[in-house]
Amino acid sequence: MIEAKNLYKTYQLGDVKVEALQGVSLKIASGEFVAIMGASGSGKSTLMHVLGLLDRPDSGEYFLGEEDVTKLSDKELALVRNQLVGFVFQQFHLLPRMSALENAELPLIYAGKRHLKQRAEKEITEVGLRDRMFHKPNQLSGGQQQRVAIARSLVNDPPIIFADEPTGNLDTKSKEEIITILKALNKKGKTIVIVTHENEIAAHARRIITMRDGQIISDKDSSGETEHSKVTLQGPENLVKDILSKSGNALKGGMEFLDYFKQAVTAMFAHKMRAFLSILGILIGVAAVIAMLAIGQGAKESIEKQLASLGSNLLVIMPGASTLAGVSMEAGTTTRFTFNDVEVIEKLNSYVKSASPSVTGRAQVVYGNKNWNTQVQGVGVSYAQLRSSVPTVGRFFTEEEVKTREKVALIGNTVLKEILGNTNPIGKTIKINQINFRVIGILPVKGTTGPQDQDDTVLIPISTAMYRLMGKQYIDSIYVEVKNADLTDAAQEVLSKLIIKQHRLITDDQKDSFSIFNMSDIKKTLTSTTQTMSLLLGAIAAISLLVGGIGIMNIMLVSVTERTREIGLRKAIGANNRDILVQFLIEAVLMSFIGGLAGVALGSGASVLITLIAKWSVRVSLSSVLLATVFSLVVGVVFGLWPAKQASRLNPIEALRYE
Ligand code: ADP
Ligand code: MG
Repeated sequence: MIEAKNLYKTYQLGDVKVEALQGVSLKIASGEFVAIMGASGSGKSTLMHVLGLLDRPDSGEYFLGEEDVTKLSDKELALVRNQLVGFVFQQFHLLPRMSALENAELPLIYAGKRHLKQRAEKEITEVGLRDRMFHKPNQLSGGQQQRVAIARSLVNDPPIIFADEPTGNLDTKSKEEIITILKALNKKGKTIVIVTHENEIAAHARRIITMRDGQIISDKDSSGETEHSKVTLQGPENLVKDILSKSGNALKGGMEFLDYFKQAVTAMFAHKMRAFLSILGILIGVAAVIAMLAIGQGAKESIEKQLASLGSNLLVIMPGASTLAGVSMEAGTTTRFTFNDVEVIEKLNSYVKSASPSVTGRAQVVYGNKNWNTQVQGVGVSYAQLRSSVPTVGRFFTEEEVKTREKVALIGNTVLKEILGNTNPIGKTIKINQINFRVIGILPVKGTTGPQDQDDTVLIPISTAMYRLMGKQYIDSIYVEVKNADLTDAAQEVLSKLIIKQHRLITDDQKDSFSIFNMSDIKKTLTSTTQTMSLLLGAIAAISLLVGGIGIMNIMLVSVTERTREIGLRKAIGANNRDILVQFLIEAVLMSFIGGLAGVALGSGASVLITLIAKWSVRVSLSSVLLATVFSLVVGVVFGLWPAKQASRLNPIEALRYE
């Protein structure tokens, strides 16, 4: 069954070359019970690892059946190892966080034979541990652990069992139990190769090979009579070919997603704190992305809403130099506007559709025992159209009422709520700064822009405001609606010239004493500002997500190092590189995905809180939720890939030896 010819294996230890195998040749027939003996360091384990396909020789040939297995790929080796050989190690190498049964099941899972799980139960029962099946390794004695390891080596029903000093760490009684089990297995037809340096153990074998300095120095029957090296064995068998052809499926990755997933979840639960911390990193990142985007989106929407209510054909003329241009105005050079200016502007009817003067101030509004401080604005009749302020309930005031300085008022929704509550306001008398006003209408709801509530306002006739309420002689600003949007720039220029002429402004300083704001310009500025803000917020959030990703990578790298022996063991029982890669990748993605979901919940919750508490308008969009979730998955893959690759590349023997 086994035929090795001239195996060499040299280890490089710093400058020193350790020749662990120096031309070992041997044949082992099916059904043999062979003990390999020799001093420590004589190359026994190395030989066993090469025979067990855990390691490759530097040179030489190795036939399993009639196939030269030194020519197989890593993937094929993993498969053959999984199907043909069972390993029992001196240190047991059970996975600590799994029950005895789960440990015994592992080779089945890597063989893609999860449907045969009852085999693990059967093998555990055979080694006499039925009542300890659900115990973790640390709840078992050394002998019991080794029996679990034997059950594990048997679940795939391999023809060959390699045991490297299986009794080395055990007491006498356990030793006997183990050797009894191995003998029974041999009786059932298993080929057993055992490394030991104890004569009592070797005495149970039917053939003893002795090694020294990487060479076989004797190979005899336990009676010491037959020289085995000279015996010819039966003809070759088709062991390997059968497996490679039969298990084409397993070669493609017979392990099911559910198995990978279960392994990943088990690993995560084994390190709860660590998993929690990496999840936390992603959670904060994603929550920040969601909340920041929501704030940005909310700000954008409310500004857009406000801009829509402004109308794009709007020009606003104000005394004082434009501060938008960044030049501060000189004291005393302010042009003051009167009704005359409004009239002249209105006559410019090839450009101007309508114009309305405006004064603003703050005032105390009282109804019954309710009291509210609000903005009071005096405007002309055309203001209703011009600023989309046609009342939803009631009516606007008329030219007649402006002329007679009537004490009538239209109130915004906030004022309505604060002082009138559910009372029908139309016709009610309210006091504005001690003066009685009759409410004639409710203004349309406009919402808030950042901290500014546009519905917290009262509109009254301009004349009433100037002469009866505020005692102003001049107009604060003039709103001008241009006939169509294309004319705004031209209208701005014409108006500017008109005012310069009207007020006889001569010097540059004087010409600078008023400004005309073009709403479409302001719109553009505001839009680009909010866009920049959204981008900035998004960038900050993305950076925190990146940091979270690096956190995951860090944790995964630590976890690869810490679990090196686990990886070695998984490989020894038949996991291929892909199995390990996928397992670690799923672990990373799972953590970042959980973090992503929790982050979406937290971010959305925070956004709702911001809306409720700070009264900002905040909008969580579906696209930002999707974006953040997808991004967190990508972070998991990108940052998990490298550690997972590192893990999958480990050489099984070096990984098993890792301390
Ligand atoms: P045994 O099992 O007979 O005690 P081994 O086969 O484990 O001996 O080791 C044979 C020799 O090879 C020893 O000298 C050991 O130090 C060396 N050796 C084994 N594995 C390695 C390794 N991974 N790196 C360097 N030297 C090694
Ligand atoms: Mg050894």
